Amino acid sequence: MSPSLITVSYLGAAALFILALGGLSSNVTARRGNLFGIIGMTIAVLVTIAAFVTQHHEVLVAIMIAGGVIGFILSRRVQMTQMPELVAILHSLVGLAAVLVGFANFMDPSIQYTGVEKTIHEIEIYIGIAIGALTFTGSVIAYGKLSGMIGGQPMLLPARHWLNLALFIAVIVIAVKFVGAADHGQATILLLAMTVIALLFGIHMVAAIGGADMPVVISMLNSYSGWAAAATGFMLSNDLLIVTGALVGSSGAILSYIMCRAMNRHFVSVIAGGFGTSGGSSAGVSIEGEVQTIDIPAMAELLNNAKQVMVVPGYGMATAQAQHAIADITKTLIKKGINVRFGIHPVAGRMPGHMNVLLAEAKVPYDIVFEMDEINDDFPDIDVSIVVGANDTVNPLAQEDVDSPIAGMPVLEVWKGHTTVVLKRGMAAGYAGVDNPLFVKDNTRMLFGDAKESLDALAQAL
Ligand code: NDP
Repeated sequence: MSPSLITVSYLGAAALFILALGGLSSNVTARRGNLFGIIGMTIAVLVTIAAFVTQHHEVLVAIMIAGGVIGFILSRRVQMTQMPELVAILHSLVGLAAVLVGFANFMDPSIQYTGVEKTIHEIEIYIGIAIGALTFTGSVIAYGKLSGMIGGQPMLLPARHWLNLALFIAVIVIAVKFVGAADHGQATILLLAMTVIALLFGIHMVAAIGGADMPVVISMLNSYSGWAAAATGFMLSNDLLIVTGALVGSSGAILSYIMCRAMNRHFVSVIAGGFGTSGGSSAGVSIEGEVQTIDIPAMAELLNNAKQVMVVPGYGMATAQAQHAIADITKTLIKKGINVRFGIHPVAGRMPGHMNVLLAEAKVPYDIVFEMDEINDDFPDIDVSIVVGANDTVNPLAQEDVDSPIAGMPVLEVWKGHTTVVLKRGMAAGYAGVDNPLFVKDNTRMLFGDAKESLDALAQAL
C-alpha cells in the first residue's frame, strides 16, 4: 500500500472520528455520529492491516474473530443497567493494551535508535506504559465499584496524599534512571518497577474516590485510556493512533470537567479522593417527618387535574426498565392537553447521558427533555413532579447540610413544586448512601413498588 494512500485513508478516518464526536453531542445526531465512528474505525483497522501486517495473517484473523465474537456476545447480553461497568472494563483493556505494546516495543530487537531518537523513544515507551498501567488497574477497581463487587465507599488510607506524592516521585526518579540506563537488563528491571508502581497508583487513586463522585472517575478513566492510546501512537509512530487517542483523551477530559461542574466539585479534589466519606446520613441532620403514601387511583386523579407535569428520572428507572411505561403515560397526558417535560440531572443514573439514552430508546420526543440548568427554576410552576427512581439527584440535603457527602452538588428542586410523587420500592438511600428528607416533606407522596409495575398500573388508570 502506497504511503500517500495510507495518509489519505488515515486523514479520512480521523475526520470521521471528529464528525462522530460532533454527532454524539446531541441525541438527535447521535446515531449518525455512531455511524461515522464505525466507518472511520473500519477504515482505520483495514488500512492498518493492509499497510503494516506482512506475515502471520492467520493469527491476526483468528484473534480478531475471537475478539469479535466475545464482543458480539457481550453486547447482546449486557443490560442497560450494566453499561457503566462494561464501559469501565473496556477502558481497562485499552490500558492493558498500552502496557503490552510498550513492553513488546521495548523488547523488539529490530527497533534500534541511537542518540536523541533513542531517548525520545524510551520516554514514549515509559509514558505509554505508565498511563496504561494506571488506567488498567484504575478501571478494574471502577468496574468492581460500579458492579457492586466491591463497596462504593472511598478507601482512605492514612496520609494518602503523601503516599500519592511518594509514588509520583518514585516514577520520576525511575524515569531518569531508565532513560540513562547503561544496559537493557537494568532498563527492563526499572521499567517493571515503574509498572508495578503505576498499577498500585491506579488502584489507590480510584479506591479513594467514592460515593457521588464516581461519575467523574468514569469520564476521567475514559480520558486516560485516550492518552494511553495516544502514547502508544507515538511509540509506534502511528499518526492515526495519536490523533484518535488525543480526541478520546481531550473529550474525556472535557466531560470530566463538565461532570465536576455539574457536581460543584474541583477536579483536583475529586482525583485526590475523600468525598463521600460518611457513608450514611450525615450526623448533623436528622430526618424527621411522616411518610405520606399515595395509591394509583389518587395519583391518576392528581395527574388528570394537572396542567404542568415534570418527570424526573433516576437510576431506578433504569433498573426497573420503566422508560417505555413513562413514555406511554407521557403520550396519554399530552393528548389530554397537559404540558409534560422531563428534567435530567447531569449525573442521574450510572453513566453520563444514561437517562437520555433510555428516553431516546423509548422514543420520548427530544424537545420535551431538558437539562437541569434549563428547568430548575420552573419547579414553582409545576403541579405534579413524578420522580421515577431518582434519589441523590433530588436530595435537598445537598443544599442544607454542609457535612453531607453530596453537599454542594446542585440538585433538581422538585420540592418547590406543588406536589411531588416519588416512585421507589422502599425507603432505601441512593448511590451516595444519604437519607433523603424529600420523602417526608408535606407536599411529597410516596408510591412504593417497582417503578415499571407502578407506571403500568398508572397507565391503565389514566
Ligand atoms: P440514586 O442511585 O441516588 O437512587 C436510585 C433510587 O432508585 C434508589 O434510591 C432506589 O430506591 C430506586 N430504585 C432502584 N430500583 C428501583 C425500581 N426497580 N423501581 C423503583 N425504584 C427503584 O439515583 P440518581 O439517579 O438520583 O443518582 C445517581 C447517583 O449515582 C448519584 O449519586 C451519582 O453521583 C451516582 N453515579 C452516577 C454516575 C453517572 O455517570 N451518572 C456514575 C456513578 C455513580 P429503592 O431501593 O428504595 O427502590
